[in-house]
Amino acid sequence: REKSRETADPAADSSPKLAASEHQDEAALKKNLCVKAAKEHNIPKDLNKVLENKVMETVLGLSYVKLSVVERTCSGDADSEGIVSKSISSHTDLIPGVYEGGLKIWECTFDLMDYFSEAEIEFTNKTVLDLGCGAGLLGIVALRGEAARVHFQDYNSTVIDEITLPNVVANCTSKGRRMGSGKDRKASKPPSKRPRKAEGSPDVLNRCRFFSGEWSQVSQLLLSSNEPCSKYDIILTSETIYNPDYYSALHETLAQLLDRNGRVYLASKVHYFGVGGGIYLFEKFIEEKNVFRTSLVKTIDQGLQRCIIEITFKNSC
Ligand code: SAM
Repeated sequence: REKSRETADPAADSSPKLAASEHQDEAALKKNLCVKAAKEHNIPKDLNKVLENKVMETVLGLSYVKLSVVERTCSGDADSEGIVSKSISSHTDLIPGVYEGGLKIWECTFDLMDYFSEAEIEFTNKTVLDLGCGAGLLGIVALRGEAARVHFQDYNSTVIDEITLPNVVANCTSKGRRMGSGKDRKASKPPSKRPRKAEGSPDVLNRCRFFSGEWSQVSQLLLSSNEPCSKYDIILTSETIYNPDYYSALHETLAQLLDRNGRVYLASKVHYFGVGGGIYLFEKFIEEKNVFRTSLVKTIDQGLQRCIIEITFKNSC
């Protein structure tokens, strides 16, 4: 059955118990981050392998890998990155500098998806980066909206291999749709009302690249790679400004990778309790750097207050 966004995202429940666990999540994220080296992930030739042992659920018409099954796949107690399986499922016992939250679909992802539909954000022929992608639903929406290229980045390579890549295969290739046509995959209304012509075309994966690692390392890799990419027309980023310690790396990454006339859509809670970051602090940081201008495009008042800001270069056209 299609899950409601509330079930896909425990944080959307405003009950005190879940709100407390959400704060624990955030507090756990406020720790020193190791500078994890960047890596590009190859897309396996055999897509059956990507979806092997994966159980898919759906939310808002998009498929995503069910976490409890990833937990089993990360055999033993820890995978190569030291992500302890118990931590993956509970989300409350995160390991600082090891796991940065990408194994859960955070609620601002859904805010941005709603906003894309409402504001009719156009992805056709655009070069898009889903920064701090986790499940990668934002990049998947861009791919289905006929973006020319979509790149996905997460801090953790396990997240890319076990969650992001399978989700892209499941949602954007005909193989994924065939393989996932079980009862969890009931057709439902897509988040965007626009037609999704790109769906299922065999070259969809040729339009994607996947990266893991810390932001400054990933931008270096992108800028120095043999296959240099043009700068991004659109950078999508949801729930990535919880920790003020990362603002400098994030700002630098946006400044290096965004096209002069590009735009960033950033969705965030107004404040991250226990971690200290939030929209006002990040906007102040941006103002002091004097590189970008920001504009608030939407506020969401249900539960914890959230918002979406658009960021463009001060000297853009
Ligand atoms: N965007 C996803 C969502 O809304 O569901 C995941 C949000 S999760 C709270 C934060 C994401 O930002 C993680 O995917 C993590 O990998 C990435 N991230 C946070 N800090 C990072 C850093 N310093 N370098 C690289 N990635 C980082």
